Amino acid sequence: MENKLHFYNTLTRKVEQFIPNEDGKVAMYTCGPTVYHFAHIGNLRSYIMEDLLEKTLRYIGYDVKRVMNITDVGHLSSDGDTGEDKMLKGAKREHKTVMEIAKFYTDAFFSDCSKLNIKTPDVVEPATNCIPQFIHMIEALLEKGFAYQAGGNIYFDTSKLKDYYVFSNQNEKELLVGVRDDVEEDENKRNKSDFVLWFTKSKFDDQELKWDSPWGTGYPGWHIECSCISMKHLGEYMDIHCGGVDNIFPHHTNEVAQSESYLGHKWCNYWFHVHHLNDKSGKMSKSKGEFLTVALLEEKGYDPLVYRFFCLQSHYRKPLEFSYEVLDNMSAAYDKLVKKIGTLEREGEVDRGVLEDYRARFQAALCDDLNSATAITVLYDMLKSDISDATKYALAQDFDMVLSLSLTTAHAAKEDANRLDGDLEAYVLARIEERTAAKKAKDFARADAIRSELLEKGIVLEDTREGVKWKKA
Ligand code: AMP
Ligand code: ZN
Repeated sequence: MENKLHFYNTLTRKVEQFIPNEDGKVAMYTCGPTVYHFAHIGNLRSYIMEDLLEKTLRYIGYDVKRVMNITDVGHLSSDGDTGEDKMLKGAKREHKTVMEIAKFYTDAFFSDCSKLNIKTPDVVEPATNCIPQFIHMIEALLEKGFAYQAGGNIYFDTSKLKDYYVFSNQNEKELLVGVRDDVEEDENKRNKSDFVLWFTKSKFDDQELKWDSPWGTGYPGWHIECSCISMKHLGEYMDIHCGGVDNIFPHHTNEVAQSESYLGHKWCNYWFHVHHLNDKSGKMSKSKGEFLTVALLEEKGYDPLVYRFFCLQSHYRKPLEFSYEVLDNMSAAYDKLVKKIGTLEREGEVDRGVLEDYRARFQAALCDDLNSATAITVLYDMLKSDISDATKYALAQDFDMVLSLSLTTAHAAKEDANRLDGDLEAYVLARIEERTAAKKAKDFARADAIRSELLEKGIVLEDTREGVKWKKA
């Protein structure tokens, strides 16, 4: 299949043409959320840009199978093997069981995704579903001499590999600096970079989730889940593996180490990483500063799709700084955009030649290392051009298969949301008139009383230069 999609492959450290293992088909894996808390909008930036990649692949004709895990066990508060278990921490914080926490935050994650028009992957698999597969892979690694047992735990022996640091020219010393700062050394490890495949000698006596294994009761390390879950659904060869840049080391490095040692051959050809969203203070956090979630944006009156629009305006390989000022601008631009599309005349003939020209420009932008900002510029250029409204509308619909900004439906939905049934509308208009008369007569107490009365009915009044306007609260 001929296509020109190029994107940055972290493995080769260059922008490359994408060629899948099987013609026309893509096996794609995404590291899913650790469901101990709400996702912050930084996490969701990664999922939005991965969604863009998946939809671009589909747009240019690929048959994509996408798999995602849900981390509901094993992820410690450091990405190395130290700190507290994130799930257990969440359960303690909320006085719930680990499984209750996992269910609640998994649902919350998908609800956020749906508000952001992020497609749910074809397969979603919680780590706790796959314990036998983890045990099987660990047994095989032990048999092949890539793993060892020490102090009750099973570790991967990184010294057995010629090239453990596949993603980086950096050496172990540099990569481990951040990790080492807050870490107590694990005496059982033969090499500093070794990592846990299975914990039995848990420092968490109160660990709720434990399973029998050939090495005693325990639970899996974090990295093993992605190797096993992807192989369970995608087989031994994968085309694209995605995640945020923080996943490169140690998580993805460890995934490659254990998967290729287990398989005895190369596993995944393309690694797609999304750079971080930061706030003004630097790193986005779930515990410090303002915890930026979709719910918070909604509370502040933003349509979640404005956040998606904001993300698509920047390149996935650049860090992005969040600010409410920029989001305000995006919000105004988004409203204008969907209004323009929503008020196009839909009837009439679509000019097929023009349609294909613009489709080609849009596709070329995406195929150029997923340049979503340029793809949006193509959309604006198209809307500004003098082609027919029907053609514009058809193109907006077509582009939205990838952009997923509800381009053709958002305006009508906004209008609907602001529509009242006939009786209520007549009542609101009569009260507004009455309030205007009260204000003229300088009876401000009466005017305020009418405003409060309408507010109780869920109607907010705004005094504007063009007169009084109302909207639903
Ligand atoms: P977690 O729930 O911590 O496992 O993270 C879910 C996803 O969000 C992973 O792919 C991370 O790499 C990604 N991620 C974490 N922080 C950020 C951030 N500030 N910006 C973008 N992606 C992030
Ligand atoms: Zn993963």
